[in-house]
Amino acid sequence: MNVVIAGGGMVGLTLARLLRARGVEPVVIERMPEGAYIPRGYMLGFQGYEPLKEIGVLDEVWPEGREIAPQGTSAVAVCVEVGKVIHAIARDLPVMYEHSVKDLVFDDSGRVVGVIAEGPDGDVEIPSDLVVACDGKQSRVREMAGMEAVLTQLPEGELSWMSSSPSETSFSMAYMADGGHIGHLSWPQGSGGWRSCSRVGAEAALAPGLDAVKEMWARLLPESRLGVEGVESIDQVRYSEPELLTTPEWWKPGIVLIGDSAHFFGPETGISSGIGLGDAHALSEAIAQNRADADAACQSYVMWRAPVVRPYEAMDPGRERILTAGKQPPGPGEAWPPQ
Ligand SMILES: Cc1cc2nc3c(=O)[nH]c(=O)nc-3n(C[C@H](O)[C@H](O)[C@H](O)COP(=O)(O)OP(=O)(O)OC[C@H]3O[C@@H](n4cnc5c(N)ncnc54)[C@H](O)[C@@H]3O)c2cc1C
Repeated sequence: MNVVIAGGGMVGLTLARLLRARGVEPVVIERMPEGAYIPRGYMLGFQGYEPLKEIGVLDEVWPEGREIAPQGTSAVAVCVEVGKVIHAIARDLPVMYEHSVKDLVFDDSGRVVGVIAEGPDGDVEIPSDLVVACDGKQSRVREMAGMEAVLTQLPEGELSWMSSSPSETSFSMAYMADGGHIGHLSWPQGSGGWRSCSRVGAEAALAPGLDAVKEMWARLLPESRLGVEGVESIDQVRYSEPELLTTPEWWKPGIVLIGDSAHFFGPETGISSGIGLGDAHALSEAIAQNRADADAACQSYVMWRAPVVRPYEAMDPGRERILTAGKQPPGPGEAWPPQ
């Protein structure tokens, strides 16, 4: 089967490695230069362990991180600098870097039969039996295929920070009186924190200033104190307005969505990449078992994967909060910006 993987992020690269291990040589197209990524700590949940173990990456990155909720020889998650994972997955993998998928090629029946990739030397058409959209939450490939994306705004904003000071613990999280949450992660090179806050826009959310952010964080989540103390400038604090993504259909003839192009979960779940890596594992197996029939591979993939992923989508705590938003006032000293 000619498989074209559109997007060489964590999920696309992992899929490529898993397919090669099953005797299928995909073409991977990635718009960024080799090795480019935005440095940050990240929580690799247990859902992603099996695929990374199979390609030999888990054992390499595990000692580079900090365990979260260790259980015997394993842990619920490991917190690691994201570049260490991406570089380990990408090593020795052929990828068409600095190429963007800019169009899909359809046959008369509407089936996707290839992509047009734009690179430094112009456009190139690459025929395919199956295009796998691994181009992230804002997936253009999904859009070009005319596949529906349902984006749901959470009722709150999100305030987050990153510093180069590790905290005493690798992870902590607490819920607040109004159902909002505050958490932190720490990896060997730094820490990051996030909390829900009023949806007031970046200017109002950052207006109280850096000292107020630090004081509030250390007070509400003492385990994050060392990390948040290391924030040196308000530029390291960010306001955003999170949204969830679900896609009702994961495939149509010649194309399938996996990873962030298919789903994106709420900020306190920490599962988006683990679920995406699991998608890659399931799809690689579905392709290996249906090498001559891309549609059968997609049907098999959905049959096995939907019972895993759909409950996570339905039970996302962000979705629950949409139902309860505004019913409980914040507790004393919890509101942000302070009232
Ligand atoms: C700030 C932040 C923090 C996060 N923290 C966590 C966490 O702690 N734990 C967790 O499990 N998940 C976390 N996630 C989610 C996690 O990063 C993703 O689930 C994970 O990276 C897998 O995504 P992906 O490979 O499907 O998509 P992406 O990582 O978005 O990769 C998509 C790739 O496609 C490329 N691309 C896009 N368009 C094109 C095109 N037209 N042609 C070619 N290439 C293209 C992009 O350059 C990119 O490399 C976080 C996400 C963000 C933004």
